[in-house]
Amino acid sequence: MKVFKFGGTSVGTPERIKSVSKLVSCGEPKLVVLSAMSGTTNSLVEISDYFYKKNDAAASDKIGELEKKYFKVIDELYTTKEYKDKALDFVKKIFSHLRSFAGKEFTQVQEKDILAQGEIISTHLFTYLNHELNIDTVLLPALDFMKVDDYGEPVMSAIEVDLNKMLAVYQGKKLFVTQGFICRNPKGLIDNLKRGGSDYSATLIGAAINSEEVQIWTDIDGVHNNDPRVVNKTFPIAQMSFDEAAELAYFGAKILHPATVLPAKEKNIPVLLKNTMDPKAAGTTISNEVTGTGIKAIAAKDNIAVINIKSSRMLMAYGFLRRVFEVFEKYRTPIDMITTSEVALSITIDNHKFLKEIIGELMEFGTVSLSENQTIVCIVGNMNVEHKGYAVEILKALENISVSMISYGGSPYNITLVVDTENKNKALNLLNDNLFKF
Ligand code: ADP
Ligand code: ASP
Ligand code: MG
Repeated sequence: MKVFKFGGTSVGTPERIKSVSKLVSCGEPKLVVLSAMSGTTNSLVEISDYFYKKNDAAASDKIGELEKKYFKVIDELYTTKEYKDKALDFVKKIFSHLRSFAGKEFTQVQEKDILAQGEIISTHLFTYLNHELNIDTVLLPALDFMKVDDYGEPVMSAIEVDLNKMLAVYQGKKLFVTQGFICRNPKGLIDNLKRGGSDYSATLIGAAINSEEVQIWTDIDGVHNNDPRVVNKTFPIAQMSFDEAAELAYFGAKILHPATVLPAKEKNIPVLLKNTMDPKAAGTTISNEVTGTGIKAIAAKDNIAVINIKSSRMLMAYGFLRRVFEVFEKYRTPIDMITTSEVALSITIDNHKFLKEIIGELMEFGTVSLSENQTIVCIVGNMNVEHKGYAVEILKALENISVSMISYGGSPYNITLVVDTENKNKALNLLNDNLFKF
């Protein structure tokens, strides 16, 4: 069975939902993972923000607005009164659930419940459509099998057991639908895999059922060589290795949730990125094959904090780095990049939750300074050191931009550097003009 994931824009209008239905309705068995219709999760975030601020009137207005949008979708999506009524009943229940949060205590628990409703609606509307069209389809609630631990990390063993148990009930069925993004935590409460998490759901599901392939359908013809939102002249990349794609996704290529590649790499399941607007386009294949040499793509990750620690205690000492890293471990804050000199150390993080505490503890080791609003620029490819000149080309392209950190040699797949966020667009464009031949 193959896993097909469709993102927000791919199910963003009644027309798009109908074409997804057509695309998956014949051929080999499929498990379809859907996101919420585009814009919905953002609206649910806004509604939650109003509830947090105890502004029930504004939350109610926003809920009404979103509800109206879905009434229109339902009107256009179905042809029979039976299915219009079925879908209306369902959606009305969801919106009355949203309204029920008014006037009550509002915490992350309630917020996560609200955020889950977008995927719950899209998968139900899609399943009703297939049923109206006599396409045999089974809806598998993700909340019954997608589990995370206390740290929000997927529990693969539980996902595998529960999902396969559910599928075994439906021997002979060929089309299944489930929600991306949403899951349950050890308390049994609704949780999620963080924004953009439907991609991750797809590869977790692919790994759990030992799928032969995971296809991620989105609004662009595969992974491009640079961020198309920032750079004009970008082009799709036909093939990438798991490692190259993992680096790109982790360092900011929005097309893939940062963790998407990991479950697929673990089980060696190829991931195809395809364009719903242009299904014939080749897209990108991510697999364990490393093809070609040289620079393939560039991504950027904003909202980076750079922490610099200067200490003469580092000089000729051992154990210093361990003690510094223990601080980050204590606060469960991953480090993205490090550079060292004999008496100083620079570290980048993107999780600012415990920044104050971390800095407080690091001050015991030396003089600590902090730069915020920094961006990591990641250049990915197959840059084996035997092929000379990649670092030179990159730094030459950026000769007029201040680069505050450089990391090279950790793997042959990436060179990363840090620039001030205000120079990010310029850096991406300069790298694009100088590193790729058009
Ligand atoms: P979906 O809703 O299908 O998950 P996303 O909006 O999350 O889609 O991701 C697709 C978008 O990612 C594209 O429209 C594009 O603007 C953006 N993007 C950023 N970097 C890249 C890249 N390197 N290649 C392709 N798309 C990228
Ligand atoms: N709907 C969720 C979001 O907007 C998950 C996803 O689209 O992947 O973040
Ligand atoms: Mg996405």
